[in-house]
Amino acid sequence: MTRPLLITDCDEVLLHMVAHFADWLDQEHDVHFDIESGQFDAMSDRRTGETLPVDVIWPLLDTFFRDHMHRQTLVPGALEALARIGDVADIVVLTNLGDDAHGWRVEQLAGHGIRHEIVCNQGGKGPPVKAIVERRGATDAVFIDDLAVHHSSVARHAPGVWRLHMVAEPRLAAAVPPAEDAHARIDDWPSACEWILDKFQSTKFESKP
Ligand SMILES: [Mg+2]
Repeated sequence: MTRPLLITDCDEVLLHMVAHFADWLDQEHDVHFDIESGQFDAMSDRRTGETLPVDVIWPLLDTFFRDHMHRQTLVPGALEALARIGDVADIVVLTNLGDDAHGWRVEQLAGHGIRHEIVCNQGGKGPPVKAIVERRGATDAVFIDDLAVHHSSVARHAPGVWRLHMVAEPRLAAAVPPAEDAHARIDDWPSACEWILDKFQSTKFESKP
């Protein structure tokens, strides 16, 4: 019998990212990243006060993931929750990184004790979620992500999947409204774990309005 499936994002779900990225920008680039704004591009040059253009931000993000992933820390309770969920379900990490970063992410998560299949993706997560569910033959599935755009994508492409919106960084969470296309918004793992296990016990695989 196939087991249920948890498909989880990594950054700001399993691992803290933005706070460590902000620290690195501050220390090494004199850049202020206003996390509390809830905007991922709210960055300014401390020396001039000028807003950083997107074509400067993306290379900085690439450099962070290439050379500074070791700065990232586990979200409290994530490891314990994955252990409980792993007793009854399969787990796949679906992370939006270039394919060249796959090995870095595998090594990074293994260093935190997380050893599950890791899938890299670019763009909306609906199509890869649909593909993973079909490949695994899962009878029920839960998807977790901090970005509303991915919940909309999964709702469109894989409507039978339960969708949990989690923003694990408290400095960011206060500024981020609940994703309209998610079934629930829970920002801490102990509560999220109960919600996920409940969904696996009580549902049939069908469209979730
Ligand atoms: Mg994320």
